Amino acid sequence: MELHSEKVLDIQLVQSNEVGGSFYMEKDGLHRCLDLLQTNNIEVDYIVTDRHTQVKTYLRGRSVTQYYDVWHLEKGISKKLEKMSKEKECQLIKKWLPTIINHIYWVATSSKSGPEKLAKWTSLINHIQDVHTHDDPEFPQCAHPVKVSLDPSKWFQPGTVALYKVEKLLVNKRLLGDVQKLSSNYQTSSLEATSKGKALFKVSYPKYKKGKPTAKPVKTKTTFGYVSELMHLVFTEVFPEPARFCDQLKSVPVPEDLCAQFEKTPKEDVIAAHISRFSRVGGRT
Ligand SMILES: [Zn+2]
Repeated sequence: MELHSEKVLDIQLVQSNEVGGSFYMEKDGLHRCLDLLQTNNIEVDYIVTDRHTQVKTYLRGRSVTQYYDVWHLEKGISKKLEKMSKEKECQLIKKWLPTIINHIYWVATSSKSGPEKLAKWTSLINHIQDVHTHDDPEFPQCAHPVKVSLDPSKWFQPGTVALYKVEKLLVNKRLLGDVQKLSSNYQTSSLEATSKGKALFKVSYPKYKKGKPTAKPVKTKTTFGYVSELMHLVFTEVFPEPARFCDQLKSVPVPEDLCAQFEKTPKEDVIAAHISRFSRVGGRT
């Protein structure tokens, strides 16, 4: 998909029986796409995919730079954390889940290099224990303002099962290698959204219908590509020349303040009602 025009340039259809099973479809589809680009003299700078092992090996063999899509990575981690949070000693994980998810996206989109991604990623283990300074010079301190916490139950405590499990999941050798290759750009998840406001349908040929095509609407997943698009707009177009955007901004309808939609009762009436309520109570005692 060409992300600026949101057009899918070419779709390579691969049928599972053509390539010896669905396991080989991703690799084979990729192989055909790259060949197509190459025969049209289009150079591939890098490619963003999920962490499919076969694709990894294939791209390494073809010397194509690969980055990983943060949405796929986050989805996998979230599922595991959610499952963990149901265990007896791990309930704290549930409260922290939104923060951890945010952190994953923030690491990917705010970092310029692999080591920076790694340092920010691992800082989370300190942060959840109320420790906000870190040994790694790439990220020596949390980016949030420091607050003194008075509630120790909010944080993970050293030596607990919950902390051990979170650490084991987020700080293991394989994952740390992959974190450094997280894509900081557009996410492939936008491919699973809509095209120009029209709902996308996925056509499948299920075996139980003897190959008769069936169309299913593709559900829109949360996408974060709009964040980089907005930032691009603000920094490269709005900031250098804000005047151009003034009229447009003024034409945005801003709804009235919620309170303004109610009829105002004069203040004296409110006070009077309050006093009479009091005097009624007082009268009874
Ligand atoms: Zn922190």
